[in-house]
Amino acid sequence: MLDTPHPTPEAPTLDPFVLAKALSGQHFIGGRYVPARSGKTFPVVNPATGQEVATAADGDAADVDAAVEDAARAQKEWAKTAARKRGALVAQCAAVIRLHVEELGRLIALETGKALRTESRVEANTVADILEFFGGLGGELKGETVPFAPEVLSMTVREPLGVVGAIIPWNVPMLLMALKIAPALVAGNSVVVKSAEEAPLAVLRICELMNRVLPAGVFNMVSGFGPECGAPLVSHPKVRKVTFTGSVETGKIVYRTAAEKLIPVTLELGGKSPMIVFEDCDFDKTLAGALTSMRFTRQGQSCTAASRIYVERPIFQRFVDAMAEKVDKMVMGDPLDEKTDIGTIISDDQFNKVKTFIDEGKATTGAEGRACSAMPDDPALKKGLFIQPHIFTGLTKESRLVREEIFGPVTCIFPFDDPEEVLAEANDSEYGLAASLWTNNLKVGLNLAHKLEAGLVQINQNLVVQANLSYGGVKSSGLGKEASLEAMLEHFTHKKTIMINMA
Ligand code: ADP
Ligand code: MG
Repeated sequence: MLDTPHPTPEAPTLDPFVLAKALSGQHFIGGRYVPARSGKTFPVVNPATGQEVATAADGDAADVDAAVEDAARAQKEWAKTAARKRGALVAQCAAVIRLHVEELGRLIALETGKALRTESRVEANTVADILEFFGGLGGELKGETVPFAPEVLSMTVREPLGVVGAIIPWNVPMLLMALKIAPALVAGNSVVVKSAEEAPLAVLRICELMNRVLPAGVFNMVSGFGPECGAPLVSHPKVRKVTFTGSVETGKIVYRTAAEKLIPVTLELGGKSPMIVFEDCDFDKTLAGALTSMRFTRQGQSCTAASRIYVERPIFQRFVDAMAEKVDKMVMGDPLDEKTDIGTIISDDQFNKVKTFIDEGKATTGAEGRACSAMPDDPALKKGLFIQPHIFTGLTKESRLVREEIFGPVTCIFPFDDPEEVLAEANDSEYGLAASLWTNNLKVGLNLAHKLEAGLVQINQNLVVQANLSYGGVKSSGLGKEASLEAMLEHFTHKKTIMINMA
């Protein structure tokens, strides 16, 4: 149970600025807030104003080592706790999170610039949902009896892997963390999370809240930068599994280090997800679906963003115009304002990267990039990292905007003439995370769904990751599945065979 001399508010607090300050400069290790051993911190910036709102502990190998050692100690007892009891505790964590949804929504909006109403509050609720889902799965950690020989009882049991290192990104950090820690914990592992340097606060608060329920040391968190804090977590000898969400480039580094240790990894990497729209679709629903598919309310900062949209030629121009008109009506502004649909880009680096893509698109001969939705006019937001959503047409498929993951509010729309042609275009990508098809002809839809190279294909909808449905990509989009029972069993346990000779 929580043993903390630290002055973070006990009760939910709705002022994210106060909470951010209180959470400053801390890891959470062994059931307590602790600063970095080096004493170093780095700033946490509100991307809507450019102001520093908190600091975070600048972790290094010494902090990682302390966290992993505590996690390793705690894991031994945790693994002895009955599986359904572990699940019940994780479900109890969900109840605590539910009481703090508003608080967490505001805090994540402050540190990431994601709008409270359209994104941040939703994310906080989803965390509770994921914890509830996995909390109910303790009893599913079952083994089998195997018919080997009449006088030999052969069976399998599911055992935890040990300490799990979880490395998370900044775009939906609370949700993506929940997808990792919930199954890991229910399966009897302990976890050390390395938060993303751009968004360390809300996940830290979640760690503290869950530590009010869980035994100390079972769930630990360190903050810091990738090479200094993430890399030592992956290479630590007592970390027996790494689950990572982030870029392809870093995913490969993680995989290489894990290969040296021969430990399993789950990698959720990028995407360049196609959305394919047929003439016979329900036009208005598909249009609304395009806005959600492109995750414009998250400034397009999503691995599953529909960043390539293929529209059957007869409705192409009508679709582009109607989409631009609809995005124009979205309100960009203060992430904490209930009226806001679209907030800010996370950081200066991402802002510059996305701007470079947009400039490149605009400079391309034959291409047109429509900037939609008005920039906020509030002077308090003049330093905010706002980028207007852009809809590009007329790009060639060789364009960097079409091939690379932009991770910003930029989509490219193309006309197509027949299903085979669009299938080839859609699959012509390094990535294979998600895809959506919009048609009332289920024969065409299902045929394409089978042929699309993607981990998740949706017809006439394009939801984000959902509890109970396996989620994970093919090709450069990653390895392994998350969010489902299969994910917990396959990726957070190993199967031991036990044989008893009774002859
Ligand atoms: P982004 O493009 O968003 O920075 P990254 O893949 O670099 O994507 O970051 C995702 C997560 O991986 C972050 O928590 C980051 O700190 C971490 N990370 C970055 N580099 C490394 C590394 N060499 N080893 C382990 N983790 C890393
Ligand atoms: Mg990085």
